[in-house]
Amino acid sequence: MRIAILSRSQSIYSTQRLVEAAQARDHEVRVVDTLRCYMNIASARPTIHYRGEQLAPFDAVIPRIGASITFYGTAVLRQFEMIGTFPLNESVAVTRSRDKLRSLQLLARRGIGMPVTGFARAPDDIGDVIEMVGGPPLVVKLLEGTQGIGVVLCETRKAAESVLEAFMGLNVSIMVQEYIKEAGGADIRCFVIGDKVVAAIKRQAPPGEFRSNLHRGGNADVVKITPQERAVATRAARIMGLNVAGVDILRSNHGPLVMEVNSSPGFEGIEQATSKDIADLIIQFLEKNARKDRTRTRGKG
Ligand code: ADP
Ligand code: MG
Repeated sequence: MRIAILSRSQSIYSTQRLVEAAQARDHEVRVVDTLRCYMNIASARPTIHYRGEQLAPFDAVIPRIGASITFYGTAVLRQFEMIGTFPLNESVAVTRSRDKLRSLQLLARRGIGMPVTGFARAPDDIGDVIEMVGGPPLVVKLLEGTQGIGVVLCETRKAAESVLEAFMGLNVSIMVQEYIKEAGGADIRCFVIGDKVVAAIKRQAPPGEFRSNLHRGGNADVVKITPQERAVATRAARIMGLNVAGVDILRSNHGPLVMEVNSSPGFEGIEQATSKDIADLIIQFLEKNARKDRTRTRGKG
């Protein structure tokens, strides 16, 4: 196969691993810098151009689109889909996953458990929303935050009110969430490929921190997940329309709660903790599934 990896740089761990895995399985692979793609969108025969050349069609494209370039990155991915390239994750699903509120609404509609979550716009509604999620302690999140930045634990009503007022004053979108204390600063990252959880790690926040993100100093250990957690993770990925996803789960007193579903989950922490060859499993998935013009949401924007 001819495989394109949409990524800002060859030297990113996950990108590097995908290149190695594709080459090891005798595929032709090329890393394409997402921001250097430009395209003719109006033509009857859409094209993608790259640093002055027109790209010959690929059989499959692996999007590794960073949160800061979601808008342009998903437009480029959509163009690949328009010319019939099979996307590992399709543009619509990537777009959904980047908006925490939209994702949670989609998952809630299908009965996936999640922390009680409120959403409001006007400062006058702050008091009610705090009540709605069960009062303090609670978590306030920026809708488009990532790597734990923009996630704040408010232990008192006063703190919650001030943080909510401040964010609303800045005109950013936020949600308010019940704090799952019993998770103890840990979450479970389930790496889903197709309809399977291929690896899972428990990420533990350092002392004094509740966010378990590895970027926030959390550490990762292999973990055995329950059949219920396995089922929730694969269902969540399927509902989002993602073939490959990092599904983050909090272990609560009333079972697994999905916190978020990542469409470009990194491999480094999970490969090192579990010794699983995630990159190879992804290439194998493409070998089995890549077909021309097989985007499930093709034409749905
Ligand atoms: P990001 O997209 O920035 O990673 P998350 O929603 O994943 O944001 O939150 C970051 C971390 O904060 C999570 O990995 C988890 O450890 C902790 N966390 C988030 N929401 C809650 C919650 N409702 N209760 C307890 N811990 C939470
Ligand atoms: Mg997270």
